[in-house]
Amino acid sequence: MATKDEKKSLNKIASLGCILCSEVLGFEGTPSELHHIRRHGAVRSASPVLALCPEHHRNGNDSIHRMGVNGFEKKWGISCEELLERQNKKLGKSIE
Ligand SMILES: [Zn+2]
Ligand SMILES: [Zn+2]
Repeated sequence: MATKDEKKSLNKIASLGCILCSEVLGFEGTPSELHHIRRHGAVRSASPVLALCPEHHRNGNDSIHRMGVNGFEKKWGISCEELLERQNKKLGKSIE
């Protein structure tokens, strides 16, 4: 179960909109879902999340779940870590 604070920060991330749309395509505030970045050895609940719209998350041909992380990063020319960094900058906090 997520704590109240965790939920709050997840809502805040989601409310930024899709980070790929805003940073790569220039569309601000696309309604987003949360994508968990899997890091080796990290439990899911502790893994960082990216805000991605359904199209870029799992529905679209260029989505991270369709292409896989490597294909996605290659297609868009940006890594998940970089997206995370920009997202955190938008949130006004440094990376955990
Ligand atoms: Zn998007
Ligand atoms: Zn996902």
